[in-house]
Amino acid sequence: MAEANFISNEELALQNDIAQSIARENEGRSLTFFVETFGCQMNVRDSETIQGELSEMGYTAASEKESADLILYNTCCVREHAEKRLMGNIGALKELYDRKPGMIIGVCGCMMQQDGVGEKLLKRFPHVSLVFGTNVIYRLPEMIRRVMNGERVLVKDRAGDSIAEGLPQLRDNPRSAFVNITFGCDNYCSYCIVPYVRGRERSRDPKDIRDEVASLVRSGITEITLLGQNVNSYGNNGTAGMTFAELLAYVSDVPGLKRLRFMSSHPKDLNEDVMQAIASLPNVCHHVHLPVQSGNDEILRRMNRRYTRERYLSIVRRLRELVPDIEFTTDIIVGFPGETEEAFADTMSLVDEVGFASAFTFAYSPRRGTVAAGMADQIPEAIKKDRLKRLNELQAKKTVENNAKYIGHEGEVLVEGFDCCGEQTMLYGKYQNFKMVYFPGDAGLLNRYVPVRVTKLSKNSLLGEMIHA
Ligand code: SF4
Repeated sequence: MAEANFISNEELALQNDIAQSIARENEGRSLTFFVETFGCQMNVRDSETIQGELSEMGYTAASEKESADLILYNTCCVREHAEKRLMGNIGALKELYDRKPGMIIGVCGCMMQQDGVGEKLLKRFPHVSLVFGTNVIYRLPEMIRRVMNGERVLVKDRAGDSIAEGLPQLRDNPRSAFVNITFGCDNYCSYCIVPYVRGRERSRDPKDIRDEVASLVRSGITEITLLGQNVNSYGNNGTAGMTFAELLAYVSDVPGLKRLRFMSSHPKDLNEDVMQAIASLPNVCHHVHLPVQSGNDEILRRMNRRYTRERYLSIVRRLRELVPDIEFTTDIIVGFPGETEEAFADTMSLVDEVGFASAFTFAYSPRRGTVAAGMADQIPEAIKKDRLKRLNELQAKKTVENNAKYIGHEGEVLVEGFDCCGEQTMLYGKYQNFKMVYFPGDAGLLNRYVPVRVTKLSKNSLLGEMIHA
């Protein structure tokens, strides 16, 4: 983990001054923005900062892309063909731009950190005037100013060792929020592009994290998810003066905070202290998203994951011993280079043994610039597809088995949304351990905590009823 390079107050004040001057120029013009976010929670969180900065510059959120004066795509490069799809989306905006030539079209996010992608985009699409990477979001006011002055702007910071505190934010969700605790990643899993685009792992100061959580709770949010590519390595090598287990304790006693979540956990760094913290801190939720990726030791070694199947299983066993109602979710890649049928069988047997509540499953696809992309023994697509199908069938069976144990379960649900089916409004939300339940109720209960009993199962879902005193 690297020492963080904190962006100076002078630099942040300068950006703020530029934002204010843009806001003065925009006064009375009713300008709007539309930010479309692809990829993971990191990008969702980045978009909230971008939206906050745009608000400071006098923009308000547009309800649809077509009416916006500024459109920004926040991109992800983890999925295959993402670049091709993005190019299609950007090309389609040309017609809109021709009708509204003053508008600003920009692209940011992980894909723009990749070599040559932003340059290619600017060359190919004259209607794009702004491209920037993940580590320079704090400079958005300066970039917008330059675009307003007629420049086409490309900014990225390949060093990726900085942290900018105190940036504005505009969050859409009134009940739950993501709070970054680390940025970047040092793990270099052999299939993953993230360390190359998001830079070295660096930790925020614990006080900044706690202050942000406290401020969110004061604004009415009661569920916080601490975010990092590998939250368990928070503060490694003394870079934050606190370990992740200590940070959980430090943040969890913010008055009014009902649920504290975290993601993602890396099995190599999830230690006994963290497990004890989950077991003992009353508002730390009993759910761990613990990506396993493969159940075979040789494939894990080739993935550079730095844990074994047995180490993974021992974490699951220990946490279940300490926290009997804990639920695990995971990520799994099938068809990694060199994966034999026997190696895949190890993944299947691990899935069978653990009984994940749910799993994100993927067929391996090479990412340019990663070690695994250069491995010789790539697996044919048809085999990957077949393995993915078998894995998904097994996980679907395990999800149903996992659900079955919830019949009669009672607990508090945080209501996240509702569907109106016929005469009945169905609310949905999660128990603290991340299990989702559907139940009839009044839409006015949105964002509230409601006691719910599970009464039956429907395909992959839990159905319940409100418990009335
Ligand atoms: S821990 Fe591995 S998979 Fe996760 S972001 Fe870092 S390199 Fe990628």
